[in-house]
Amino acid sequence: MTSLGTAENPLRVAIVGSGPSGFYAAQHLQKQLGAGVQIDMFDRLPTPFGLVRGGVAPDHQTIKAVTKVYDKIAADPTFRFYGHVDIGTDITHEEMGTLYHAVIYAVGAQSDRKMGVPGEDLAGSHAATEFVGWYNAHPDFRERQFDLTQERVAVIGNGNVAMDVVRILAKTYDELKGTDIADYALEALKKSQVKEIYVLGRRGPAQAAFTTPEIKELGELADATIIVRPEEVRLDALSAEDLERNHDAMAEKNIAILQEYARRATSDTGKLRPPKKRRIYMRFLTSPVELIGTERVEKIRIVKNELYVADDGSLRPRATEWEQTIPVGLVFRSIGYKGVALPGLPFDERSGIMPNQQGRVLQNGAPLPGTYCVGWIKRGPTGIIGTNKPDSIESVEKLLEDLRAEKLLAPSRPTRAALEALLAQHKTNWVSFADWQILDRIEQAKGMAADRLRVKFSRIDEMLKALAERKGIKEPSGD
Ligand SMILES: Cc1cc2nc3c(=O)[nH]c(=O)nc-3n(C[C@H](O)[C@H](O)[C@H](O)COP(=O)(O)OP(=O)(O)OC[C@H]3O[C@@H](n4cnc5c(N)ncnc54)[C@H](O)[C@@H]3O)c2cc1C
Repeated sequence: MTSLGTAENPLRVAIVGSGPSGFYAAQHLQKQLGAGVQIDMFDRLPTPFGLVRGGVAPDHQTIKAVTKVYDKIAADPTFRFYGHVDIGTDITHEEMGTLYHAVIYAVGAQSDRKMGVPGEDLAGSHAATEFVGWYNAHPDFRERQFDLTQERVAVIGNGNVAMDVVRILAKTYDELKGTDIADYALEALKKSQVKEIYVLGRRGPAQAAFTTPEIKELGELADATIIVRPEEVRLDALSAEDLERNHDAMAEKNIAILQEYARRATSDTGKLRPPKKRRIYMRFLTSPVELIGTERVEKIRIVKNELYVADDGSLRPRATEWEQTIPVGLVFRSIGYKGVALPGLPFDERSGIMPNQQGRVLQNGAPLPGTYCVGWIKRGPTGIIGTNKPDSIESVEKLLEDLRAEKLLAPSRPTRAALEALLAQHKTNWVSFADWQILDRIEQAKGMAADRLRVKFSRIDEMLKALAERKGIKEPSGD
């Protein structure tokens, strides 16, 4: 038998998850092994691209254009997509071992972190994850309801996801219409009564995680004013020292922008300008300690924090005696995404990732043969799309080392025919990449008719129905 990883005896690799990290792993395998690899990529949804479709904000289309790179990876003859297949449920990890020499988990971080304060579960308090999924037409969140008749909203967190949530709440119908925001979300936001948005960050402006373009955008909205308190964006001594030591150019730019917003607010006083409909209050060094309400959220109690130098040298927030209560009827918690355990696989509950060493999944401290992870499930929910590329390359390099050392799995039926037989046996109605391209064309055509970028499917049964209809009439079946 010729050696594994050649065109005659291809290495069979499953990639579970079709977000950026899964695609970058596929790309590196293709580059390194050419025709010597067969890649089957799975996703629990019929649609590929993970958070690029279901997370990245609809008004950030240039970022979504990265899917053109993924389309090229998918067009390579080594590649197949099996959408609408949930690994762990439709096929177990054990079964994967009978079909593949290696399995790469690229499942992202599917849940959210809790704040751990009283009242967090009151009606009207939502994880940003839910709102983001809802406005992006993610089928898991399609039926969620958000009471947009509320006039005051708090967004907890200072990362880019919090900035996305604020922007979507603050933008006008005209600003959102041309995007691919879910049609039902566009209609609900059109009727939104939201007037005041409080953005609460627990540390100071120098430690905020949002990037400069995102904070800049908040100052450029058609019908929303950003309000910053001068005393909260004045640089304190500890932050100034820290900035000088670390030469943090992004933080310096952010502070300059925020100080300009603070000046704008002061110099605007007394001028006769038509007031904008919405106000965004950026508050720093504040932490929520309680959500208050009987039936639903009515108020949020916050404390003022001060910074101190922690043992690891970082600046951390510490609560002071100062407290304030702000009336709000809606709260979005944006304090981080969190990974979810897959049945039969190791998982570190505390950090919300698969325990791993440079991408080799560890079980009781030892590598689990032929099992790797990439992206957010490997390192946690940090970094932009591009961060996943070197991260995926690192894991694939470990896989290739294990290939050379003959330490991969020894599947008993390493063929696509065996996989598809198993899927048929489990009555799994899988969707190919060609099927997804049909859905993509339908979405774009509906968009064109409505003078929008695309009108997204948001229900899996509707996607499957549309495919059955199309294929029944003229389209041949998938790949
Ligand atoms: C709200 C939000 C906005 C963002 N905006 C930007 C931005 O503007 N610019 C930027 O550069 N980065 C942005 N990011 C970051 C970027 O999206 C991530 O870095 C990236 O998506 C992580 O990739 P991933 O492949 O690890 O996970 P994901 O993109 O989450 O992909 C995971 C995939 O795995 C699938 N899956 C999960 N479980 C299973 C299973 N059991 N079986 C089969 N499939 C499964 C999921 O359906 C999903 O498709 C944003 C992130 C969020 C949350």
